[in-house]
Amino acid sequence: MLEELLAANERYAHDFALGSLARGAARGVAVVTCMDARVDPLALLGLAPGDAMVMRNAGGRVTTDTLRSLLLASGSLGVVEVAVLHHSDCALAGRSDEQLRARLAEPQAEAARDHVLLGMTEPDVALAEDVDTIRHWPGLEALQVEGWRYDVATGRVARLVVAGNTEMAPDEAELPDGDHAGDEQRDALVLFAEASGLDASSREAEAVPLYRRAIDLGLPPELEYRALVQLGNSLRVTGDVAGAVEAHRRAAERWPERAANRCFFALALLSAGEAPAALSQAIEAVLWLAAGAPAKDVREYRQAIAAYAEAPEPTA
Ligand SMILES: [Zn+2]
Repeated sequence: MLEELLAANERYAHDFALGSLARGAARGVAVVTCMDARVDPLALLGLAPGDAMVMRNAGGRVTTDTLRSLLLASGSLGVVEVAVLHHSDCALAGRSDEQLRARLAEPQAEAARDHVLLGMTEPDVALAEDVDTIRHWPGLEALQVEGWRYDVATGRVARLVVAGNTEMAPDEAELPDGDHAGDEQRDALVLFAEASGLDASSREAEAVPLYRRAIDLGLPPELEYRALVQLGNSLRVTGDVAGAVEAHRRAAERWPERAANRCFFALALLSAGEAPAALSQAIEAVLWLAAGAPAKDVREYRQAIAAYAEAPEPTA
C-alpha cells in the first residue's frame, strides 16, 4: 500500500501547481478535528490548500499539543478564528476512557492503561469544554472559537457552540515590564505548551529546560503554578530530587492551598528520603481540601498522582 501512495505522489507532483503558496492560513482559520478517515475538513468546509491550519487527533480534542499549535498559528501564521469540528459516530463519543480501553486488544490495551484517552461520555459537554479551553488559554483569548459537529451520514455541519464576544482581554497587569513584554510572554507560553507535550510523552529530561525558560520569561500565575508542579515532577523522575523538592517548595510557598502540588511535593520528599516531611505534605493536602480549597488541579493531575501513589519511586 505504501508503494501505491508514493506512486500516486509521483503523478501528483507531475502536475503540481501549489508551489507558490505562502506559509500561513490565507483565510485566517484553524480547524481542530478528528483523525477519522471519513472527515475531509478542507473539502467539507470549502477550503483549499493554503487557506487553513488543520490540527487533527483522535476525537478532535483540545490537547496541550493543540494549544501549542494554536499559539504558533495565531502568533505569526495568521489564524484569528478556530472551528473545533467534532463528528457524529466518533469512536470516542459516548464512551469513557475505561470503555475505550476495554475495546482495545493487546498489546494496546495494556499500553493504554496509563494514557488519558479523552473519551467523551457526553459529546456535547466535551465539545463545549474544548471550545472553552481555547477561549481561556492565556495568549489565545482573542481568537473567535466555535464548536461544530459534522454529520458523517449527511455531510452537514451543525453549529453547536457559537462564538461570543464576551471574553476578557488579557490582564495587562500580568505582563512583565518592557517593550517586548508581550512577545516574551508569548514565547513563555509556547515553551510551556511544548514542555507539557514532551512531559506527557515521557520525555521529561527534554521538558525540564523548557519549563525553566518558560518560568524565567514569565508566565501568568496559573500557568506558572502548573509549570512549577510539572518541572518538579520531571526533575524527580529524571533523578534530580533536590531540584524537585525546591520547585515544589517554591510552588507551596506561593500557592499553599493547591493540593496537587502538595501531593507531588510529598512524592519528591519521599524520593529524597524524607518520609516524615512527605507525610506532612500529604496531610496538608487533605487539610486544605477539607477546608474547601479548589480541587481542579487534583482532578487534572489525578491520573499521574494515582499512578505515583501506587509506585512512588520513579524507575527512570
Ligand atoms: Zn472521531
